[in-house]
Amino acid sequence: MRIGMGYDCHRLVQGRPLILGGVTVPHSHGLEGHSDADVLTHALCDAILGACGLGDIGIHFPDTDPVYEGISSIKLLENVIKKTEMEGMKIGNADITLVAQSPRISPYVKEMKCILADACKVPPERINIKATTTEGLGFIGSQQGICAYAVCLLIPIKAL
Ligand code: MG
Repeated sequence: MRIGMGYDCHRLVQGRPLILGGVTVPHSHGLEGHSDADVLTHALCDAILGACGLGDIGIHFPDTDPVYEGISSIKLLENVIKKTEMEGMKIGNADITLVAQSPRISPYVKEMKCILADACKVPPERINIKATTTEGLGFIGSQQGICAYAVCLLIPIKAL
């Protein structure tokens, strides 16, 4: 088995949709980034790449490449899963924590889990998503940005 961790942070800006775990969440602001800036999915991608020993999302999908401009991060995750399979591994489970002062994501978590699990080719119960605020403290508390942490366990395909 292999484990990996991922962390990501994006700035909140006006005039962009807020996309988290592949779901467009209604909010006054969205996240700034070259892709759709889905911070939750980026953290998961980095956790998986970390477990594979394959570096990070910036190496595989550079933000200087126009191919990735505005791309759905779910497409990036699907690509990461392909790389994982080429390493002979698949997702055992993943646990993701979103750190945001607002909005509340609980109404959307079930849909996010289904989208991420589908991309990871595992049942939704293998993907856990939880959220916390910083009690108003720091740049997250003042709603300048949103962060996400993820850990994942990879298991060998041949062990299944
Ligand atoms: Mg990112």
